[in-house]
Amino acid sequence: MLEKKSLIVIGAGATGLSAAIIWALNHDTKAHPVLLIEKEPKVGGFVTSYEREGFVFDTCQMLPNISEILEYLGVEIELKKFKGYYMRIFVVNPETKEIKVLELPTGVDKFKQNLIEKYPNNAEQITKFIDHARAMYLELFNLKVEPTFFEILKLLFTCPKIIKNASKTFKEYFGKFRITEPEVIEIFNVFADFSALPAEQVTALVPLAAMNSLLDGAYRTKLGFIDFSNKLQERFLSLGGELKLSSEVENILVENNQVKGVRLKGGEETYADYVITTVDTMLAMKKLVGLGKIRKANKKYADKIESIKMSTSSFNVSLGLDDKLDLATLGMDCGYNVITTGGDTYDRLFDAYEKGEIGFSEKRFHIGVICPSLTTGGQPNITIRVTPMALADWRELRESNKDEYEKRKEKWGNFFIGIVEKYLIPDLRKHILITDISTPATYARYSNSPTGSIFDMAPTTNNFGRTRLKIRTPIKGLFQPKFVHGVFGSLLGGMQAVDMILNRKIMNGNARLKLN
Ligand SMILES: Cc1cc2nc3c(=O)[nH]c(=O)nc-3n(C[C@H](O)[C@H](O)[C@H](O)COP(=O)(O)OP(=O)(O)OC[C@H]3O[C@@H](n4cnc5c(N)ncnc54)[C@H](O)[C@@H]3O)c2cc1C
Repeated sequence: MLEKKSLIVIGAGATGLSAAIIWALNHDTKAHPVLLIEKEPKVGGFVTSYEREGFVFDTCQMLPNISEILEYLGVEIELKKFKGYYMRIFVVNPETKEIKVLELPTGVDKFKQNLIEKYPNNAEQITKFIDHARAMYLELFNLKVEPTFFEILKLLFTCPKIIKNASKTFKEYFGKFRITEPEVIEIFNVFADFSALPAEQVTALVPLAAMNSLLDGAYRTKLGFIDFSNKLQERFLSLGGELKLSSEVENILVENNQVKGVRLKGGEETYADYVITTVDTMLAMKKLVGLGKIRKANKKYADKIESIKMSTSSFNVSLGLDDKLDLATLGMDCGYNVITTGGDTYDRLFDAYEKGEIGFSEKRFHIGVICPSLTTGGQPNITIRVTPMALADWRELRESNKDEYEKRKEKWGNFFIGIVEKYLIPDLRKHILITDISTPATYARYSNSPTGSIFDMAPTTNNFGRTRLKIRTPIKGLFQPKFVHGVFGSLLGGMQAVDMILNRKIMNGNARLKLN
């Protein structure tokens, strides 16, 4: 007899692990089995660590406070909270070499007070903006994922700010507060860039959520990000969940608009009542299901898929260093350092990205620099993180012209190392023992994303709120919790999908976890 599961989860990244654990937590897994399928030989997806010649590098770098979710999942992970400031922004003038350093302290009140003291001319505007943004962020706790008619009416009273600003970009929203100090504008724009979209495209709520959640506390895993994923895996298995590694789903089986299960590469089929897909949206909908089947079930949903803009890819340079640099004295023990030429830099880099080009130059750049080893210990290392980067021809080049691919990789790696050396870590090159570079082709290969996207769907106003692609697909029993931006959103997405299947048993239909 062919095997049948209650639930199959495709992809064992943060979303898939969270969904699978939540299912297992709420069922007797012998009677209602859950199977998690992952194409790689290990779990974690983009939440991982990798070793190169004795150096251990992480993919992810910073987390907001996820303790409530971890508590619910029953997982303990050692996290370090960044004290003092959690982010520094280096605004550079490449002509004069002048650098302005803006430090962002942890804590909303402290952050507000610092800005007011430093920029008294804009004190009133800053207060209004931060207070409004905070109130709007807190309204998120009242949102429902699939509101009923009566809940929509209620939202008019419980989420008035979100509703009023739902279709505004961050630039439009921020513009209302008439902040004129360029440095203050710079600081707030960085939160837009955190979503890998320029302020003129990103929906207002996403940078506000990033800003508020990180101000409440920015964290990093003490034992590397793979520890995070491994602990989730352990928890899942301890609850009787089944995990299939090194197994790639080739098809999501659908009959008469009803999901039936999955077929793996190699032909093996497993059936299930429900399937949750956590792989790249375009891969899942266009390849694993097929747009034709989606269109047959619901034309609007299929049209929506075709209109979606995916997020950008990335370029990462990880450096293993000797122990002669005093990275702590250089202030590197903070969550994130941004080196930017400021102003409209990100918008212009994004213009180039949209044409499939690389817009970075000595006069225009915007990069993140992080020092994981000051948290994780081990051999000193730093990571340079770059968006926006388009997949463009990176993948073709790697497949058909490896020499050219390596040359291009090295050229851009050198370029970004040069920026860090010039503006943040003098003589950096002298201390580099090994260099490991990931290109958009790396991300595309690792995630199977046709666009190499690192954040799935881009949070433009068209992709967001009531206009977002719904988690409940028109194929009965098939769910896709993929509008995520980061680990926190992914964990939450997995929970939301199972909450839908279980008729609101876990979160009462709320978008955020409100434990009683
Ligand atoms: C370089 C980088 C840095 C980041 N930094 C941060 C950060 O500092 N903070 C933060 O919060 N977020 C960060 N993110 C984003 C965060 O990692 C992601 O939002 C999140 O991990 C997405 O989780 P997911 O489970 O939805 O998707 P994924 O992690 O992509 O997981 C999907 C899984 O599905 C598997 N899969 C794909 N196709 C198939 C198939 N056909 N069959 C079976 N399995 C399949 C993949 O192998 C993968 O394991 C970063 C991402 C990247 C790439």
